[in-house]
Amino acid sequence: MIKVLNNGFVELVESMGHDEAVIRNARRCWRSESKGEDADRKLLRHLIRERHKTPFEAMVFTFDVKAPLFVARQWFRHRIGSYNEESLRYCAALRDYYIPEGLEGEALEAWKAHNEHAYDVYDELVGKYKLPKEQARSVLPVGLYTNFYWTVNGSSLMNFLNLRLDSHAQYEIRVYAKAVLDLVKDVAPICFGEFEREVLNAGD
Ligand SMILES: Cc1cc2nc3c(=O)[nH]c(=O)nc-3n(C[C@H](O)[C@H](O)[C@H](O)COP(=O)(O)OP(=O)(O)OC[C@H]3O[C@@H](n4cnc5c(N)ncnc54)[C@H](O)[C@@H]3O)c2cc1C
Repeated sequence: MIKVLNNGFVELVESMGHDEAVIRNARRCWRSESKGEDADRKLLRHLIRERHKTPFEAMVFTFDVKAPLFVARQWFRHRIGSYNEESLRYCAALRDYYIPEGLEGEALEAWKAHNEHAYDVYDELVGKYKLPKEQARSVLPVGLYTNFYWTVNGSSLMNFLNLRLDSHAQYEIRVYAKAVLDLVKDVAPICFGEFEREVLNAGD
């Protein structure tokens, strides 16, 4: 598990396929099998350069993610993948919200006071006024933490990393994308090592 922001995390809970499956699928085109690491690495580099993406769909990852709601909203725009998120219709909201690093003094106090007040109102609406949780949640801030599982294949994951590690992406989702990259590089080092070299660092 990798901790992200003040209270978030990303954990790789399950995965299948990895480098071996991608190589096996790619070599089907030539009716061949793995030819050792150097040749396989060269082949994967070629696939990445030529955007021959389908073999990368043979590896699949499931992540457990805890992120602020506004980060999840950006994340869920990536349609090629599956999401299952904790529901604030059924579960009570936890008093757990994003605080940016470096925020201090009066700004930090104002930030906390606003969030705490929102949670106080929520608790009152649900507890005292018996409002359904699905309605009361409307008063909560977009920085509240949400939990979701994300299942995604290697090709779609590369698209996500390419877009969300870019300097134009918001800082908060970029740090999640970096954590995701570190986790998948551990289990599929050739695929994501070559992807990092060919795509992410191509402009260096
Ligand atoms: C820096 C940044 C700023 C952004 N700003 C905004 C913004 O201001 N407003 C906003 O609304 N969005 C914004 N987005 C979201 C962006 O438009 C994409 O929705 C998001 O990045 C998902 O990318 P994707 O479609 O490639 O991924 P996925 O949805 O995972 O799709 C992967 C690929 O599948 C194909 N595909 C999927 N669905 C279709 C389809 N229906 N038709 C054709 N091909 C499809 C495409 O090739 C696509 O690239 C922003 C994204 C970034 C990275």
